[in-house]
Amino acid sequence: MAKCDQGYKCEICGEPVKNIIESALYLRYVLGEVQLHELFGAPERHLHCDHDLCRFIRHEKFVQPEEVELVDPADDQARVERVTRGYERLREVVGQGIPITDYPLK
Ligand SMILES: [Zn+2]
Repeated sequence: MAKCDQGYKCEICGEPVKNIIESALYLRYVLGEVQLHELFGAPERHLHCDHDLCRFIRHEKFVQPEEVELVDPADDQARVERVTRGYERLREVVGQGIPITDYPLK
């Protein structure tokens, strides 16, 4: 991960984003909302700093920041399921040696 080696900084908190599991940019890529060529130029954010995105995640391994107001799944069930699936996918692809072009959900 050249991106991580270069220590890309979160545009919100200023701390480096060390792992793609904590990257909002990569989650958006897995979701098909960011294109591959945009990955290396777009501003990086921690998932837990990007409240517009992380409030849709329902996953035991994802600890929501206290100040986040979770989306009621009844309000947007499809988005909760999709973002949660994307987060699972992100965890799945890490360290598997699969090509980055295979990361996005089908
Ligand atoms: Zn951050």
